Parts: sequence; C-alpha cells; structure tokens
Amino acid sequence: MDPLKLNNTEIAFAYKSNRELRESYWLFKLMNHASLVKLGTNMAMTALNWHLPIKGIVKRTIYRQFCGGETIEECNRLIKKLGEFNIKTILDYGVEAKSNEEEFDKSAEYLIKTLHYAIQDDNIHIISSKLTGLFRSALLEKMTAGASLTEAEQQEYERGKKRIWNICEAANRANIYVHIDAEESWLQGAIDELALELSAEFNKGVPTVINALQMYRKDRIDFLKRSLEHAREHKYLCAVKLVRGAYMEKERARAAAKGYPSPIFETIEGTHASYNAGLEYCLDHIDEMYLSNATHNEDSCQLLAKLMDEKDIPKNHPRIVTAQLIGMSDNISFGMAKAGYNVEKYVPYGPVKHVLPYLIRRTQENTSVGGQMSREFNLIQTEMRRRKLI
Ligand SMILES: Cc1cc2nc3c(=O)[nH]c(=O)nc-3n(C[C@H](O)[C@H](O)[C@H](O)COP(=O)(O)OP(=O)(O)OC[C@H]3O[C@@H](n4cnc5c(N)ncnc54)[C@H](O)[C@@H]3O)c2cc1C
Repeated sequence: MDPLKLNNTEIAFAYKSNRELRESYWLFKLMNHASLVKLGTNMAMTALNWHLPIKGIVKRTIYRQFCGGETIEECNRLIKKLGEFNIKTILDYGVEAKSNEEEFDKSAEYLIKTLHYAIQDDNIHIISSKLTGLFRSALLEKMTAGASLTEAEQQEYERGKKRIWNICEAANRANIYVHIDAEESWLQGAIDELALELSAEFNKGVPTVINALQMYRKDRIDFLKRSLEHAREHKYLCAVKLVRGAYMEKERARAAAKGYPSPIFETIEGTHASYNAGLEYCLDHIDEMYLSNATHNEDSCQLLAKLMDEKDIPKNHPRIVTAQLIGMSDNISFGMAKAGYNVEKYVPYGPVKHVLPYLIRRTQENTSVGGQMSREFNLIQTEMRRRKLI
C-alpha cells in the first residue's frame, strides 16, 4: 500500500478562507517565540483574574484557532463546515477541574445540554468529559492512592458517580458516545475503575463509554490488556481512545518532588513505541474493541493505515476512528477523511476564562522547539505560499 498523502496543504486548508488562513499564519508565527508565549500566557492569566478587558483579544486570536465558540450555537458554523468534509465533531464543554458541588452540578448540566445538542445533529456523535469537572480532585487522589473513604466522602463519591452515570445512560439511549478523558496519574486510578464500571454497564455491543489511555505511561500497555480482559469477563465492548498524554512536565515534577519514579517514559521514543504498540494491539483485537487513534503524529497515522491494509480492515471500519484537536494537524484530519477513513475533530467550547488552561496547553505545544518552527506553522506557511499570500 502507498503511504497516506498527508502533506497536501490545499486539501488540509480548503475549509479556511484567505482571511482565516492569514490569521492562523500570524498567530503561529507569534507562537514560535517561546519567550513571547511565556510572557503572554502569564499576562493573560493575571489580566483575566483581575477582570481586565482582555477577553476580546484572546477571543480573536488563540481562542478562535483552538475553540469552537463560547456557546454551542457559536460552534454551529464550524461543526457544519467540518461535516461537509466528512469530519465529525467531538463536542466538549471545556471546563477544567472544579471544586464544589454547585460547580459539579453545573458541569453535569452542561454535559447534558451538550448531549441534547449532539442528539439533534448528525455531525456530532461524541461528547467528552473530564471527571475532575464532576468530582473533587482530592477525592479521586485519595481513592487512587487506595486510602479508605470516610462516610461523607463515600456519599460524595456516589453523588459524582450518579452524575456521570445519568449522562452515560442518556447517551447510551441516544447512541451518542462519551469520551472519559485521561488526567494526572495520581487521579487516574479512580477514573479508570469508574470507566470500567460504566463500560460494563453501557457498552453491551456499543462503545458508549470510551476510556482514554495515555501511552506515555509505562504501565498503559498492561492496562490496555487488563481493559480487554475485563470486557471479556463482563461481556461488553472494550472502547479506548489512545493518546500520548498532555501532562508530562507536571508528572515528572511531582515524581521528583515526592521522590517516586516517574510513571512516564524517559524518552519520546519510549512513548512513540508504546503508542504504536497500543495501536497494533487494538487492531489485532478489533472484533472485540473500538479504537480512537487520537494523535497529531503522522507516523502513527501512517502505521494505522498500513496495519489496517495488511489486516484487510476497511478504511471506514465502524469501530476505528482517527481524531485531532481543532486548530491542529488539519493535514492529517482532512487528508485521512478524503482518503476514506473515519475522522473526528475535538471542538471545545465555553467562556474564554474557563478554557484558558486548555488554550495555554495548546500554545505551549505549538511553540518552537530548539529553534525549529512548529509543525503547524510550516504547513500554514506552505499553504500561504501556494495561495500566493506571502
Ligand atoms: C482527540 C484528542 C483527545 C485527547 N484527549 C486527551 C486526554 O484525554 N488526556 C490527555 O492527557 N491528553 C489528551 N489529548 C492530548 C494528547 O495527549 C496530546 O495531543 C498529545 O500529548 C500530543 O501527542 P501526539 O500524539 O499528537 O504526538 P507527538 O506530538 O508526536 O508527541 C508529543 C507527545 O509525546 C510525549 N513526549 C514528548 N516528549 C517526551 C519525552 N521526552 N519523553 C516521553 N514522552 C514524551 C508527550 O506525551 C507529548 O505530548 C488528546 C488529543 C486528541 C487529539
């Protein structure tokens, strides 16, 4: 099989007007300056905390690149546009960790609202949830550490569980899928156990609950195998989203501060090998699994395509999808969709202030590394040249 063609910027950016492409160009050009990104993110956090009027500028720049809108209605145009290119939307109300019952109820309310919206729109069939938006992180941490809960904490856990249970139950009835995002390793043990319990209940023949595995962790291949064994034992479909993982620095810093070995591979090669081994494992067992290949890594996408071809798995197999974040790797998303693969874009929405931590992670990811232009900037620059805009 010929390798996938993922370097066609005309296909990648067909959905962007010249004006939109120019805006992305200037944004990524600025983001190539690491010191500017550091200064900008510090200033943005401070300004928002002091209620200074910077919402407008954030919204016109990084927000527009990496988010769908402040409300679902604002995301509509983008969702429709992606749909025209056969790309489905994973819709996420972009809340990060919350800390009290009132906020958890509010997050659950937003998830239900997102779900209702997804039910009406064929272009959206997945919603995404961070359990730290529904549970107190300290509670998840205590459970992950294996400590026993007080009576009050047990009740608190049951309230959180009821929130996500109701969401999965409603999603299951409507044939919508729910991504359970992977978070920091010291919270993840509790998230995994709950994800397995929800899967056993709702994944009878359908992938309603899709648990995320961060393959930068040394123990994830074992956990992947354990997940499939659990599914076999309880007779349900094992549904996973493979990601490399977004919290590497935080993980390493905590491990160093507390004096335990970091759970993350020491080198990026270790992470790549683990991710690719995960892909291969899922494809070997695809009759019993659902796989979301959630990555911006071209080699992993090429590997997926090659393995699918070798195993005679059709490109549009209903239980294999590839997913990227909005604003990133359009060459992969639009290239693979055009080649006939199932593709999804993750579109977060919500007020600027709430999604700021997510936006900061995206800007850091797209900063120049060791003087090398970011992958995105190179692609945009190529398309600007092709359109004779520079
Ligand atoms: C649809 C979607 C959903 C996502 N959901 C989640 C989620 O639930 N939880 C989550 O944590 N992330 C999630 N992510 C983010 C994902 O983890 C990041 O996009 C990812 O880390 C970037 O990696 P990549 O696969 O695109 O590949 P690349 O850009 O090729 O690899 C970069 C990644 O490799 C790893 N890495 C880098 N340097 C080293 C090193 N020195 N040693 C070891 N490893 C290294 C890190 O994970 C880094 O992010 C999601 C991404 C997508 C596209």
